[in-house]
Amino acid sequence: MQWEVVIGLETHVQLSTKSKIFSGASTRFGAEPNTQACVVDLALPGALPVMNWGAVERAIRFGLAIFAPIAPRSVFVRKNYFYPDLPRGYQISQYEYPIIQGGSITIQVEAKKKTSSYTYEKTIRLMRAHLEEDAGKLVHEDSTRMTSIDLNRAGIPLLEIVTEPDMCSAAEAVAYAKALHALVVWLDICDGNMQNGSFRCDANISVRRPGEKEFGARVEIKNLNSFRFLEEAIQHEVSRQIQLIEEGGTIVQETRLYDENHGETRSMRSKEDAHDYRYLPDPDLMPLIINKEWIAEIRHTLPELPDAMKKRFTNQYGLPGYATGVLTTSRALAVYYEQVVSKIGIANAKMAANWVIGELSFQLNRNRLEIGETLVSATQLALVLLRIADGTISHKIGKEIFYTIWEEKAIDDAAADRLIEAKGLRQILSSETLGAILDEVFAAHPHFVDEYHAGKNKAFNALIGQVMKVTQQRANPKQVSELLKKKLS
Ligand code: ADP
Ligand code: MG
Repeated sequence: MQWEVVIGLETHVQLSTKSKIFSGASTRFGAEPNTQACVVDLALPGALPVMNWGAVERAIRFGLAIFAPIAPRSVFVRKNYFYPDLPRGYQISQYEYPIIQGGSITIQVEAKKKTSSYTYEKTIRLMRAHLEEDAGKLVHEDSTRMTSIDLNRAGIPLLEIVTEPDMCSAAEAVAYAKALHALVVWLDICDGNMQNGSFRCDANISVRRPGEKEFGARVEIKNLNSFRFLEEAIQHEVSRQIQLIEEGGTIVQETRLYDENHGETRSMRSKEDAHDYRYLPDPDLMPLIINKEWIAEIRHTLPELPDAMKKRFTNQYGLPGYATGVLTTSRALAVYYEQVVSKIGIANAKMAANWVIGELSFQLNRNRLEIGETLVSATQLALVLLRIADGTISHKIGKEIFYTIWEEKAIDDAAADRLIEAKGLRQILSSETLGAILDEVFAAHPHFVDEYHAGKNKAFNALIGQVMKVTQQRANPKQVSELLKKKLS
């Protein structure tokens, strides 16, 4: 039977302010428990919240980047619920009048079709993004069978970003979460550290028959803090719902948790409705008034955004969509790429792209490093590429030099030239020298020559291979091939 999957994501993004959203306590991660919670975060009587405008500024940056209007007036409310991670008994949040409503994010989704894979584009609409405070963190100590509370996290500014139910597969949800993650890091409003909880997703999932007008009842899966868990949790939840309905059951609206170890979702509580929270305007905080001048000022400081950069890379460097997509996965990678191009010229921009998304990204992934930790700098890579472009070395030797610079952790800008000289890696370009080498190879492997004349094409490649071996990869395969053809005929 056919089923249609409907997914909406709510993402909690910790904003990168130094102090909390309504207090002066530090937001630094990893401090001793309860050393960074002041009277406001502890909700001691009489302690009043004070707006941290750095958090507001970051929210505005986000709104501008997704082309959403920024509300000139938004309102903080008290969202009441009782749970030990929330000393106040209510969370300061926004509800009816959030700082941002609307906007969208365009994602690239990789999909598989039987044997091949392809990419398609989809625009995910955002419902809203609002400011709120994070809650404390409950720590369940298995050894003592007790639960402790760390209030260092209480009051860290959050931007909760909510999508319309526009995604219809785990792949789309993951692509969206990755794009959103890349964007908030790009904008410098969040450190993006998912392990530390700086970026956490709740997935709302329902299924229905194709053609049905109403959505099915949704289940919310809370606190998914890795892309892999997000994907697995959705896949498991979709199967669970389909199976349950097909067996005659019904889905109830509830909140579930994903158990990574058992690969299943488990019921946590029945989902509250809005009225359970008894939202009330918070009389301790003035409505948030944002004037046009400030927005204009912030707009002025925005970096070039990924989509704009992609378009520019296509126009300026003639790169295909795939390459522009990879190069703009992070601002640091894009900057690295453009540094390389600035040194080797636009004529070699495609070669630079191939290397950055090929060799360089491969090495980074293999060593689990970020671009900021690369062991081959843009300047060093540029010189390798220049030497390939001007014929000093072959492509293959270029790779070897690249890896040597990496392994050596070389810091000299001219590492490529140093290695070429020290190891005698210059390409053999003289046709006379190469001609003599060909004669040697013919003499050593007459059978390949015979086989070639007998019509076996493989023998031709074997001869090229021998020449490359004799020259220790210092010949240009294309040149060798041309010379070989001439000689053999
Ligand atoms: P709440 O605040 O109670 O969690 P929201 O109206 O903010 O509810 O919606 C939460 C998320 O659930 C949104 O991302 C929305 O797109 C998504 N959503 C709403 N209805 C469904 C549904 N039937 N199936 C899947 N997702 C849904
Ligand atoms: Mg919600």
